[in-house]
Amino acid sequence: MNYQDFFRSELDALRADGNYRDFAELERHRGAFPSATCHNGPGEVTIWCSNDYLGMGQHPKVLEAMHEALDRTGAGAGGTRNISGTTHDHVLLEAELADLHGKEDALLFTSGYVSNWAALGTLASRIPNCVVLSDALNHASMIEGIRHSRAQKMLWKHNDLEDLEAKLASLPLEQPKLIAFESVYSMDGDISPIKEICDLADKYGAMTYLDEVHAVGLYGPRGGGIAEREGLMDRLTVIEGTLGKAFGVVGGYIAASAELCDFVRSFASGFIFTTALPPAVAAGAAASIRHLKQSNVERESQQANVAEVRARLDAMGLPHIENPSHIIPVMVGDPMKCKFISDVLLKEHGIYIQPINYPTVPKGTERLRITPSPVHSAEDIDRLVSALESLWTQCELARMPMAAQ
Ligand SMILES: *Cc1c(COP(=O)(O)O)cnc(C)c1O
Repeated sequence: MNYQDFFRSELDALRADGNYRDFAELERHRGAFPSATCHNGPGEVTIWCSNDYLGMGQHPKVLEAMHEALDRTGAGAGGTRNISGTTHDHVLLEAELADLHGKEDALLFTSGYVSNWAALGTLASRIPNCVVLSDALNHASMIEGIRHSRAQKMLWKHNDLEDLEAKLASLPLEQPKLIAFESVYSMDGDISPIKEICDLADKYGAMTYLDEVHAVGLYGPRGGGIAEREGLMDRLTVIEGTLGKAFGVVGGYIAASAELCDFVRSFASGFIFTTALPPAVAAGAAASIRHLKQSNVERESQQANVAEVRARLDAMGLPHIENPSHIIPVMVGDPMKCKFISDVLLKEHGIYIQPINYPTVPKGTERLRITPSPVHSAEDIDRLVSALESLWTQCELARMPMAAQ
């Protein structure tokens, strides 16, 4: 086989479909985010698609904690958690996370992806005869964890309680069950009916596993997520989150009972056999969580900017998915046009919004996923909206009937 030819032809096929991924090479400017230099593009840009939802990646308290820990302990953890890599900063962070979610304990992983992969993989493979009931739109990391477990898996229609109940009812009552789902779904920005899912879990004797990656830091009086906002944290078996999105650093975790955390700690290969996060990362994440537990300013200002961008899009009739979250998916519905708009926004307007194409979203639903944050200014919003306005006309894309014109 000519391996290089094979790689090239597979990549050519991606390009022909408009699904080849170009990465913008960014240098974010501390203190000036969402501004950044795009090194393989037009120079100075404004980022409109970051998951650093609240700008915590540049928050003085977070940076100060990281500097302090770096100077106190050095660069890396120096080992896996099992062999010399459990530092004081890791343990403090886990206590902070357990408290955030009102759980007995928490367990830290190198990323949210790894936490889902390792925790779901371990629970579903180690609990005898466990069946996983997985929402059809769950994130790739959950899907991979479930697949890796080789446990029986049942997909239920996205956010569909009737379908979930039918699947639960079809199983023997005594068979162990795990319902895996998310709170805020990141591509449509819709929110799952957590209470009703917990009710079904109780009725059919199932455990619940909730991915709150796009909600932690952002919702609830202390940033504990949608489950905190709705007073449901104690009803969930496992809450999973990331330190890389609203908390602005990197890492992932689960929060659950002491026994469950100890079980995953003891059996999960993806927890045991990898070097622990640097202590400075743990200290920065802990500072971020601590700050967002007692500050609503960032959340309120984010929500205000989200509402403002939505209202401006509505006034122009630009189609976006209505949802109850902070995510604004502006629908293009064509991979080539989506990539074209993104390219022109970057090159001519200095606005960076990565196009979201298949397989991240279904074909025909290609979109620009906009994430307004507290660090976007009124002027940033003006420039975004007028650039989109002119591009919509240029690409002859449909507008919604309520267009102001
Ligand atoms: C991003 C994401 C993850 C993975 O989190 P990372 O910390 O980025 O690895 C898990 N679940 C969902 C729903 C995500 O969007």
